[in-house]
Amino acid sequence: MIVILKQHPETEKVNQLLHQLEEWGLSHHYSQGTLTTIIGLIGDTSKVDVDMLQANDIVETVKRVSEPYKAANRKFHPEDTVIDFGNVKIGGGHFGVIAGPCSVETPEQVIAVAKAVKQSGANFLRGGAFKPRTSPYAFQGLRAEGLELLMEARKETGLPIVSEIMSLEHLDLFADVDFIQVGARNMQNFELLKQLGHSGKPILLKRGLANTLEEFLMSAEYIMAGGNENVVLCERGIRTFETMTRNTLDISAIPMLKHLSHLPVIVDPSHATGIPWLVEPLSKAAIAAGADGVMIEVHNDPKKALCDGAQSLTPAQFDDTMKTVKRYMQFEEKIFG
Ligand code: PEP
Ligand code: MN
Repeated sequence: MIVILKQHPETEKVNQLLHQLEEWGLSHHYSQGTLTTIIGLIGDTSKVDVDMLQANDIVETVKRVSEPYKAANRKFHPEDTVIDFGNVKIGGGHFGVIAGPCSVETPEQVIAVAKAVKQSGANFLRGGAFKPRTSPYAFQGLRAEGLELLMEARKETGLPIVSEIMSLEHLDLFADVDFIQVGARNMQNFELLKQLGHSGKPILLKRGLANTLEEFLMSAEYIMAGGNENVVLCERGIRTFETMTRNTLDISAIPMLKHLSHLPVIVDPSHATGIPWLVEPLSKAAIAAGADGVMIEVHNDPKKALCDGAQSLTPAQFDDTMKTVKRYMQFEEKIFG
């Protein structure tokens, strides 16, 4: 980090600033030119409060030259992180296919979809029990009962389950959920992230609707700073001016995140596009760009789905998509789970 001082700073104030930096555990390199004075900070600057430095009246500007995230940073952890779910893994060449309905609706629905997606090669079952809906009048999910039904489906199929948590109050209900999703709308719910940091559970963190990759990685950092390193990042499309698709899938996010971080990156082409026939081509693109998995919405009867039916694949469409996914995986030398 570089701190550029205003012209002719008072010596006493400079000394106070240097002392403050030392108290923060940082060494410095002080360089006084004829017009500009620059202080180079040496050490771990990830915990430095840039705003506090900026507020100092002798400081002109503060520039970060290294990333503000540390635990998630590949520089400090060059090998790919592999998240281990027991008999399934994600990351480091292990590919995860998460499939299932947007929301858990009935025992018959979730069991039927679970069996079908397993048959086609999925290695995780997804299903929302607590749903973040734009309208308060829309189906909000079966809540605790939905989680129970997912657990039933896990018993039937052996597939580990993924479900979204929306509130800290529900943490206990998720004790037996294998992979806890933090949805796009909660990517910056920092209190939730902090608590999940103490949970030790694998967390599927989705990118916010309008968040930068640095903000995304800082949210992962919140979870990891609490001691939970089991984080999988999910690119699910962002808001742009384009209206043909529900969101715009940011394909470049995949190699960029993998370059910046050691965490696995998966892609959700269902929410990214909102259009079933785009799920297959964008799954191919995701694999080619280096993704460690995909998450796809599948419903046994999309026309009657209580949430996101318009973007859900039928089990038959998912089966076709999986044939292509498997071919692309082979080409990229990924292995299932
Ligand atoms: C979901 O996975 O069902 C969901 C609500 O996703 P997102 O948070 O990406 O909108
Ligand atoms: Mn959905």
